[in-house]
Amino acid sequence: MTITHHLDAATLMSFAAGSLPSALAAVAAAHVAMCPHCRREVAMLERIGGTLISALAPAQLDHSQPAMPQTTRAASPTPVAAAAGEIPTPLAPLIGGSLDAVAWRWIGPGLRHRRLPLRGEGSLQLIKASPGASVPEHTHGGSEITLVLRGALSDSSGRYGPGDVADVDGDIEHTPVADPEAGCICVIATEAPTRFRGLIARLMQPWHGL
Ligand SMILES: [Zn+2]
Repeated sequence: MTITHHLDAATLMSFAAGSLPSALAAVAAAHVAMCPHCRREVAMLERIGGTLISALAPAQLDHSQPAMPQTTRAASPTPVAAAAGEIPTPLAPLIGGSLDAVAWRWIGPGLRHRRLPLRGEGSLQLIKASPGASVPEHTHGGSEITLVLRGALSDSSGRYGPGDVADVDGDIEHTPVADPEAGCICVIATEAPTRFRGLIARLMQPWHGL
């Protein structure tokens, strides 16, 4: 597996601090489990965070509060187990053992999805796109991270294979297209509901909870 698209610096920093919304944190953890480069970045950011706290003089610390907020430590993403197979370890409890055993739901020509159970902020879903199928043009009300698990996806920013992430913010409009031979299965985390454009997409949206 050759990973060429990584989490951006702001996402890695929020992930290391344990402050990403649940859905984005789940996909970030999955990418980090698959990607040695981002694992090194997260380890470095955590060392920097620890050094900053220990460098504070005792008088600067408010002893009524723990040095690191409990909620932050509880949400700390590390240690992240290395991934094996197509489903990264952090997502295995949500997806199950095999992408071939997923109970897909039809949402449009060449497109199926499965919403994943998630507690906390944001939404998480698997998308299965047939060869050459495109996801309707959409914008985001917040951050979105897409992680490819099988096949490939292309948009104006490049080609994304297994392990690659597309980490985009709320202002970008894009129309990803699945690989013409292999199709694509990916997991998408959104901070806010995705807004599709175009009449058919708008008609589909209320019925399929996208
Ligand atoms: Zn990476």
